[in-house]
Amino acid sequence: MNNNKALFEKSENFIPGGVNSPVRAFGSVGGTPVFFKEGKGSKLIDENGKEYIDYINSWGPMILGHAHPEIIQSVKDTADYSLSFGAPTSRELTMAELIVKLVPSIEQVRLVSSGTEATMSAIRVARGFTERDKILKFEGCYHGHADSLLVKAGSGALTFGQPSSAGVPTDTAKHTHTLEYNNVEALEKCFKTMGHELACVIIEPVVGNMNLIIPKIEFLKRLRELCTEYGTVLIFDEVMTGFRVALGGAQSLYNVIPDMTTLGKVIGGGLPVGAFGGKKEIMQQLAPLGPVYQAGTLSGNPVAVSAGMKTLELIQAPLFFENLTLTTKSLIDGLIEAAENNDIEFSAQSVGGMFGFYFSSKPPESFDDVMVSNRDKFNKFFHLMLDQGIYFGPSAFEAGFVSSSHSVEDINFTIQAAEKSFKKLK
Ligand code: PMP
Repeated sequence: MNNNKALFEKSENFIPGGVNSPVRAFGSVGGTPVFFKEGKGSKLIDENGKEYIDYINSWGPMILGHAHPEIIQSVKDTADYSLSFGAPTSRELTMAELIVKLVPSIEQVRLVSSGTEATMSAIRVARGFTERDKILKFEGCYHGHADSLLVKAGSGALTFGQPSSAGVPTDTAKHTHTLEYNNVEALEKCFKTMGHELACVIIEPVVGNMNLIIPKIEFLKRLRELCTEYGTVLIFDEVMTGFRVALGGAQSLYNVIPDMTTLGKVIGGGLPVGAFGGKKEIMQQLAPLGPVYQAGTLSGNPVAVSAGMKTLELIQAPLFFENLTLTTKSLIDGLIEAAENNDIEFSAQSVGGMFGFYFSSKPPESFDDVMVSNRDKFNKFFHLMLDQGIYFGPSAFEAGFVSSSHSVEDINFTIQAAEKSFKKLK
């Protein structure tokens, strides 16, 4: 009996599409989603008792692997004292101080409970601060599911062929302008025509929501210059890249410093925490100090914050990111070699603990490039790997994630499985 199948069929009766977030549904790769019951380190165990090496890591947060003993202990210790107060705690102060120390462009920070809340709130503050309505984003970047950001979005929106969602009023969407990622010329032109009307530009400084796309440095640098020149708030959405590509996020890797940063995923260590922060003069627009309203019943939740804080503490260990970067690189180098051995058109790249692979001759630089990679091959490869116990994201438009618990054996096993899969794909 296939327990995954039985659970999915039953779930479809009670939960739309059987899932609580669309990309979990295997909609683009076909087949039945896997229901998991247990995770330990780099491995997951499904409801049939089958083991997988996990390269999704809950879409990024589990940078130390599943059920890390120190994180579990800190959650248990905190839970003994109450699950929520809805009032300030010293733990939130420690967390804020830590974030400010690790990401120096953040002078003040507010905690929320998801990446969506972080980006939505950051945009509201930027609008309040500049007293402008228009915002600019880039095609294929995903910033959560707030109305004004579901315009030409990536991730699940892209996977299901609806980069712009129904239900978003035209009056809201009309304030969101989109441009091609990495296109300096288009950027210059846009600022020339509407720079003074743009409240903010929000960008994934490394894109992880239309597979993985690495920014051109001159593109990021020019974006910074233009935002400064036109008084537009530059928001780096580091929900995915923060504490994932480097301890200081993508901004520390490329040395391009935003006015505001949004965070999520790793800062919750697997529990719901998001954050947005930046220049003090901007953040002080927020209620109760300023006119921009933003709030949350469970914001700064003690249990969630304790998991996040323990995670941030552990990833500061010497050589943590150097090792994570090397492990991730060894995975993609092995995949590239396995594809070459089998004459498969394939490319791959990584940044820190994030990676992307593509059934195309070279890594994409924009949304249009991503769209030409061979999705049919991806879907077949995905299932061939899943059968062998390798759990990649079920979509050609998602980045992958490695944790510090992935061993050399895990990586070698994955590469051997890929070699077999590529052979079958020929
Ligand atoms: N921004 C980015 C860059 C993301 O990758 C995501 C989620 N994948 C979000 C925002 C939204 O975060 P959440 O799903 O926690 O709302």
